[in-house]
Amino acid sequence: MLREDAGRVPHPADGGGRAWLSDPGADLAADPGAEPEAVTAGQSGQFTIAYEVGPLGIATGGAIFLQVSPFWGWSTPQVEAPDAPGYTEIEVSHEDMELRASTLDQQLLALEVTGRALEAGERVRMTFGAGVWGAQADRYAEKNSRFWIAVDGDGDGTRSFLLDSPGIDVLAGPAAQLQVTLPSIARPGETFRVTVAVLDALGSAGVSTTGEVIFDELPPGLELPERVVLGVESGGSATLDAVAREPGVIRLHARGPGGLEAESNPLLVSATGPRILWGDLHGHSSLSDGTGTAEDYFRYARDVAALDVIALTDHDHWGIPPLSSTPENWEEIRRQVRRFHVPGRFVTLLGYEWTSWVHGHRHVLYFDDDGEVYSAVDPAYESPLQLWKALEGRPALTFAHHSAGGPIATNWTIPPDPVFEPVTEIVSVHGSSEALDSPGVIYDAVPGNFVRDVLDRGVRFGFIGSGDSHDGHPGLTQLAGSSGGLAAILSEGRTREEVLEALRARRVYATNGPRIVLRTALGPHPMGSIVSAPEGGISQELFVSVIAVAPLERIDLIRSGRVVDSLEIDGLLEVTLHRDVEDLKAGEYLYVRVVQEDGGAAWSSPIFVE
Ligand SMILES: [Zn+2]
Ligand SMILES: [Zn+2]
Repeated sequence: MLREDAGRVPHPADGGGRAWLSDPGADLAADPGAEPEAVTAGQSGQFTIAYEVGPLGIATGGAIFLQVSPFWGWSTPQVEAPDAPGYTEIEVSHEDMELRASTLDQQLLALEVTGRALEAGERVRMTFGAGVWGAQADRYAEKNSRFWIAVDGDGDGTRSFLLDSPGIDVLAGPAAQLQVTLPSIARPGETFRVTVAVLDALGSAGVSTTGEVIFDELPPGLELPERVVLGVESGGSATLDAVAREPGVIRLHARGPGGLEAESNPLLVSATGPRILWGDLHGHSSLSDGTGTAEDYFRYARDVAALDVIALTDHDHWGIPPLSSTPENWEEIRRQVRRFHVPGRFVTLLGYEWTSWVHGHRHVLYFDDDGEVYSAVDPAYESPLQLWKALEGRPALTFAHHSAGGPIATNWTIPPDPVFEPVTEIVSVHGSSEALDSPGVIYDAVPGNFVRDVLDRGVRFGFIGSGDSHDGHPGLTQLAGSSGGLAAILSEGRTREEVLEALRARRVYATNGPRIVLRTALGPHPMGSIVSAPEGGISQELFVSVIAVAPLERIDLIRSGRVVDSLEIDGLLEVTLHRDVEDLKAGEYLYVRVVQEDGGAAWSSPIFVE
């Protein structure tokens, strides 16, 4: 069906005309006037959209469509019930114009031309939210949320969108939470960044708040201003430079405007041990099925979520209009990737989501500034084998995701390419694909299709989590749902080359949102390693160190398909373990799963025995 849609040839009259937001009281014959004001996230409003027929007119049997964003809470436009949300009044510029209005689908209203054909310059006005309930806006803040207008000019059932359809800014709601984010590792004497952000109830930034954020009881040896002033221009967020002189674990407590309080994630100040970069390598914007602009996505990742590494991975064929057939949108993503990329400070990656409804979804990341959108709907790239072939020789990786369940599970009968797929995403907003005994297991789970089942078949994967955010909140997806996802990337340097090297070496671990510090090693071999065992097997000490964000519930040890040990932790925040592991044979693997009392969890990449 998707391929058929993509192959349809529009008639010249399809997508004709122009549309704009207008003043409800204005004369329908008047020229477009001042832009209407913004609406607040989750609030109701009345939105008046004017449409003028294009030079080729609209034939009888043709139609005009109003498509509000089908995601994140916009009311569906409807003409049936004035006492229900989304009620839409239709007015026409000429009395003898006949239109039959009906709701076709979620957020989609059609006005079918039933009488004479419509002539160039004739106008239609749709007042969306004309009833007592108005029309409810997106629950997440975003710029330019679109009222998409599409036109079937000849009546053959094929419609085209007006690419300059009008939109409205959706503003953040009132301040409801304070976030204080530290890096997870700092070296003694090194300058690092503390990020504070006041957000609305669902995690949107840009709240209108002013006041101070005050840090209580700074630990000795920490150089950090005791307070930061959030001015009108701040949008509620700020970063401060800090230096810690003494080794140890730092957790900050802060008080913000309006009685908001926050506890930071833990920071380990240590001269040794790997540095942890936090990445969210999978998420969406309004260029496919998410909210917000590409620019705001990168800005949020850097200034609010305090990430080190970020990728925007919009769907190949699932936007209005589809990314794969809209080079200007792909160019916009590339532009923002280049603009925000500052090696050593903030690593951005170019990417998109290869959205196959046959083999499952994989996002594709490029570690340079080039890269194409190979669409899963294109017969040339419809299988993962074709995709990997197309990527040959490129600095690129692919990541199977939500692989054990909804919205579609991965077809693991095609083995993952060892070059392009050293790592898999085991947790996101959709839940965990690790195993059936995982915390927060994915919906519509397919038994036998979990990542652990794939490891049991001999595939070697490292683990990451990703937000797969659609709400414009990369790095903090868990704020609006039960699960998020982050990639902990063990890399001293913040460059694309070093991040790629860490991913290829599986020097990564996954969390479902919280910035838990997790270190594991089998003897001298860190997580992700391949360890050679002699004929009779190998016995070695497993080292596990956890610095949790919230009190710990348990630490599980998974060996070759089974949880072989589950250690009750009883509310501690920091745990170090040494455990003897006996007789590991070639083909076995070992990893650690850490679960907090609040459901937060982290998964080390496995150590493999050969
Ligand atoms: Zn997906
Ligand atoms: Zn996705």
